[in-house]
Amino acid sequence: MKTIEHWIGGAGTPGVSARTADVYNPATGQVQARVLLAGPADVDEAVQTAKKAYQSWQDVSLTRRARIMFAFRELIERHLDDLARVVSAEHGKVISDARGEVIRGLEVAEFACGIPQLLKGEFSDQVSTDVDAHSFRQPLGVCAGITPFNFPAMVPMWMHPMAIATGNTFVLKPSERDPSASLLIAELYAEAGLPDGVFNVVNGDKVAVDALLDHPDVAAVSFVGSTPIASYVHRRASEQGKRVQALGGAKNHAVVLPDADMDFAASHLIAAGYGSAGERCMAISAVVAVGTAGDEIIARLRRNAEEITVGPGDDASSDMGPIVTEQARDRIAGYVDRGEQAGATLVVDGRGLVVDGHEAGFFIGPTLFDHVGTEMDIYTDEIFGPVLVVLRADSLAQAIELINANPYGNGTAVFTSSGHAARTFQRAVHVGMIGINVPIPVPMAFYSFGGWKDSLFGDTHVHGAEGVRFYTRAKAITTRWPGSAGTPDTAHRTPMHFPTAV
Ligand code: NAD
Repeated sequence: MKTIEHWIGGAGTPGVSARTADVYNPATGQVQARVLLAGPADVDEAVQTAKKAYQSWQDVSLTRRARIMFAFRELIERHLDDLARVVSAEHGKVISDARGEVIRGLEVAEFACGIPQLLKGEFSDQVSTDVDAHSFRQPLGVCAGITPFNFPAMVPMWMHPMAIATGNTFVLKPSERDPSASLLIAELYAEAGLPDGVFNVVNGDKVAVDALLDHPDVAAVSFVGSTPIASYVHRRASEQGKRVQALGGAKNHAVVLPDADMDFAASHLIAAGYGSAGERCMAISAVVAVGTAGDEIIARLRRNAEEITVGPGDDASSDMGPIVTEQARDRIAGYVDRGEQAGATLVVDGRGLVVDGHEAGFFIGPTLFDHVGTEMDIYTDEIFGPVLVVLRADSLAQAIELINANPYGNGTAVFTSSGHAARTFQRAVHVGMIGINVPIPVPMAFYSFGGWKDSLFGDTHVHGAEGVRFYTRAKAITTRWPGSAGTPDTAHRTPMHFPTAV
């Protein structure tokens, strides 16, 4: 049985903790590897290694950092299929979907290649007589990333290219469910010429996370995962005086107005609700159908959901793969049971699905509910599976009110042919990322990604300009070179009042 190690100082290492966790192949239900679970001593070794590497990496020129990032970007592209296969084998998602996530992560590395431009400071000539002012940004030190199972390649890549390009060193704690993509990334960084110790991976669970949150030499923490853990990470790391951004869970609504193109909306809602078996933080999990849109959209969603092929991720004919673990699959099935008991109309039932040749795989089929109430737990909770719930509303205003009453605020979308309705929607919803006839509006790498309310704890979103700001801090310099002809006060005592421009 393969053992998945840590990556510290430019090489794989077994560390000292002997604890392990099983890594499954979700399509077969079999354990395919064991991953080491780091203890505090392993985390300390990774952080000390990153701290030592920081001493020289912070002084490496912008040009050289950009060139290493270019080389890394080329290697990801060359190994796109390898990365996609590794992601699919441990997560379960279909290969085409895994390729999609690697490409979206690659785009952040591409953005980070522009770091010489992104880190330009400001300069003001003559802010007072013979006085100039300028500002620039410097890295923080050792930064940590703690990431979820559902995007084992992309979500870490929201973080480490930005942290490294801005001059920090990095310790990544990926999800223990699918850790292998991060180790392949570590090898690619080494091949790209990144000095040893700049990028490190510690595998583990809560023990490793807590050790990172409490470590005095970790300057900043980027977290992505479920809301309760995001809130906990934000609180605990903030108490330790660290800079923190902690992205949490979601319940993303799509509003369908009666003037929408219903075939177009249904086709996109199916992809957004059931792609990656609904295990996406930007998945659409609730449809709010306004007025006459309700019956029209339900008929199409039912037809399209029943046409989805569920199977192993490495089978090109599969549209949707298995769920990551048996427990998660059973938890999702439990929600379907309770939704039915609560009185929602079960239109398509994915429970009990058996895939030929993969009888022990963690499968559940697409599930669709209609006439869902806001008090039902299939609406209030993030199910994180292929369960789409449809609620009915009388007007756009009522739909917006419903979205704004929900504690999550990650993504949302509206399907309409009215510019006026779309503009009203985008201005009024309390949500961080909004799509107009685009159901998964994940911002490009040169914009920043982040939700509102319980979907983000902290002030900064990830990547884009906000990513540069998160991983750096500003210095403002005021300069005078005495002796030039116009310099005042050279012959007089300096006034003792608070300095003001002259
Ligand atoms: P999770 O919160 O269980 O785990 C995330 C990370 O936290 C993992 O590395 C895990 O090892 C660690 N962890 C788990 N329990 C912990 C604990 N008690 N103490 C300390 N650390 C702990 O999330 P998950 O199941 O891996 O991922 C799915 C969740 O992530 C969903 O809620 C999804 O919406 C969310 N997510 C959000 C975004 C976003 O951008 N907002 C993106 C992707 C995923």
